[in-house]
Amino acid sequence: MSDRGDVIIVGAGFAGMYALYRFRGQGLNVIVLEAGSDVGGTWYWNRYPGARCDVPSLEYSFGFSEELEQEWDWPEVFSAQPDILKYANHVAERFDLRRDIRFNTRVVAIDYLEDDNLWRATTETGEAVEARFCVMATGCLSVPNKPTLPGADDFQGTVLHTGLWPKEEVDLSGKRVGIIGTGSSGVQAIPELAKQAQHLTVFQRTPVYTVPANRKRMRAEVQQEFRDHYRAIRDMQQHNPGGVSNFRPFRSVQQPQATQTVAREPVSFQQTAPQSAESRPNEIMRLTPEERTKLVAERGLGMLLTFRDVFTNAEANEIANETYREAVRNMIDDPEVAERLLPKTYGIGCKRQVLDRDFYDTFNRDDVTLVDLFETPLETITATGIQTSEGHHDLDLLIYATGFDAMTGALLKANIRGRDRQPLSDKWRHGPVAYLGLQMQGFPNLFTVTGPGSPSVLCNMLVAIEQHVNWIGECIDYLRDQGLQSIEPTASAETDWVAHVNQVAEGTMYTTPSCNSWYLGANISGKPRIFMPYVGGYSKYRERCEQIVANGYEGFTLS
Ligand code: NAP
Repeated sequence: MSDRGDVIIVGAGFAGMYALYRFRGQGLNVIVLEAGSDVGGTWYWNRYPGARCDVPSLEYSFGFSEELEQEWDWPEVFSAQPDILKYANHVAERFDLRRDIRFNTRVVAIDYLEDDNLWRATTETGEAVEARFCVMATGCLSVPNKPTLPGADDFQGTVLHTGLWPKEEVDLSGKRVGIIGTGSSGVQAIPELAKQAQHLTVFQRTPVYTVPANRKRMRAEVQQEFRDHYRAIRDMQQHNPGGVSNFRPFRSVQQPQATQTVAREPVSFQQTAPQSAESRPNEIMRLTPEERTKLVAERGLGMLLTFRDVFTNAEANEIANETYREAVRNMIDDPEVAERLLPKTYGIGCKRQVLDRDFYDTFNRDDVTLVDLFETPLETITATGIQTSEGHHDLDLLIYATGFDAMTGALLKANIRGRDRQPLSDKWRHGPVAYLGLQMQGFPNLFTVTGPGSPSVLCNMLVAIEQHVNWIGECIDYLRDQGLQSIEPTASAETDWVAHVNQVAEGTMYTTPSCNSWYLGANISGKPRIFMPYVGGYSKYRERCEQIVANGYEGFTLS
C-alpha cells in the first residue's frame, strides 16, 4: 500500500524546502523524501573545515518572505557552512517544514505509472509514495565523486570525503593527513587542515586558479541598508545575468557618524559574485606588463577577474594567466613548490572560480608537503598511506576532495523511468536532454529544479531555485484550473533548447578544448562531454520561461 500525495519532492535542501513551502501554500498535499537526517542539502553534507559560500549571504538567501529577510542576521559577508546550515534550520522551523519531510529516506527508484498518470517513489527500505507530480530537488552537486584508486581498500586509517563530512567532530591533532584534490573544496579545506593536523600532504593533480575570498565581518549598517532595500534588490537580481543585485550600500559607507573608526573602504561584493563578461568594463590588453604586475601586487589576484577581455579573448586570457603565475611565484618561498602550483594547461574562466583564505601561504609552512601527481604519479594506496613513483607518504587519515558527479549525477542515481518504462539513463546516454532544464519529454509531470540546461550553477542558486519552483508551482495551478492532467515538453522543443544551450556556450572560455571542468562532465570518466548549465544569463532565461507561459506553455504538450 503506497502513501498518496499531490506532489513528491525529492530532497530537502534549499530547493526542496522552498518547494514544500510554496506548494503547501497552494493547498497541495506534499511529501518530501530526504536521505539526510535533517534539512540543508549541500550545507548539510559539506561540513568540512573551511567550507563556505562564494556568493554574498545577503544575496544567497531566500527572497520569498519579507519577514525572514528582516529577522535574519548574517555574521559575515560570505558565510561559512555552519551559519548557512543555521539559516536552513531556522527556515525549517519558522515555516514548520519538517512535519512533511521524511528524513533518513533515500529514494532508489522513481517510476511513472502510466495507467494512473502517477509517479511512484520507492525508498531503500521498500516504502512507496505516489503522487501526480514529482519534483526532483536533488541539487547540482550532491553526488560525491570518489575515484577508484589502486589499493584504496587496503588503507587502514580513516577515509573521509569533503562532500560527506561527518557530523561528529573530526580530531586531526597529532595526525598525518593526506588530501587528494585542489578544487574549491580542497582549496578551502587545505589551510584549515594544515592548522589542525600534525602534517598535511596535498596530492594535487591539476593546479588551480584561486583568488582571495572576501573575509569581511558583516557590519550592522550594511545589513540594515540591505533590509531597507530588499524589494529593489530582489528585483535587481531578476535582471542580472548571475542572479545577484550587486547592490552597493552607500548610506552605511558614506555616513557612519558614530563609527568614524570603522574602516571606510567601499563595500564591494562584486569580486566573486557570478557575473557575465558584459558586466566587466575593462580590458587587460590596454595595460602594460608593469601596470598589470603593479595592479595585482597592490589589489590582489582577484583584479584579474575584473577584465572583460580575459573571458572573451584568448590572447588577453593568456596575459592574465601569466600575470597570475608571476604573482604566485612571488608568494611561495620554495621556487620548486611554486612551479608545481602554477596552472599551465588551461586558462582563467574555464572552471568555476575558486576562492580561498590563505591557500598559497599554507604551502610556505614546514608541516605541509605538496605532491604533484603528474610529476610523481600515485602508484597505489597502501595500508599506511600513499605510494607515488617518488616514495611513500605515511598517513593516518585520507581525505578525498575529488568533487561531484555534477548536474546529472543525482537525477540518474534516482533510477527514474518514464513512459514505456524508459530509463532516464537511456534517454541521456549521450548527455542530458531537457527543455529549459525543467522537464523531459517522456516524463510527464516530473520536474527538475535547476536541472541541466538551466542557469543553475552559473547563477545565484537561491534565485535560480525560487524561479524554478515558482514556475513549477504556477504550472501545477494552471493544470488544476484548466482541468488538465499532465504536461511534458515536445521532442522538438527539447531538442531545440539543447541546441540553443550548446550554441550559447560555444566560443566561451568554458568550452575551449583545453578546458576540462565538471560543467562539461570532464571529471567523471565516461561521462559525455557536454556543457550542462545554460550560459545565456539568468535574466534572459527567466524572460524566456515567462514568455513560454504567456504563449500558452509553448513547446509543451498539455493534456
Ligand atoms: P572539483 O572542482 O571537481 O575538484 C576536484 C579535485 O579533485 C580536482 O583538483 C581534481 O583534479 C581532483 N581529482 C579528481 N579525481 C582525482 C584523481 N583520480 N586523482 C587525483 N586527483 C583527482 O570538486 P570540488 O572542489 O568539490 O568543487 C566542485 C564544485 O562545488 C565547485 O566548483 C563549486 O561549484 C562547488 N563548491 C563551492 C564552494 C564554494 O562555494 N566556495 C566550495 C566547495 C565546492 P583534476 O582537476 O586534475 O581532475
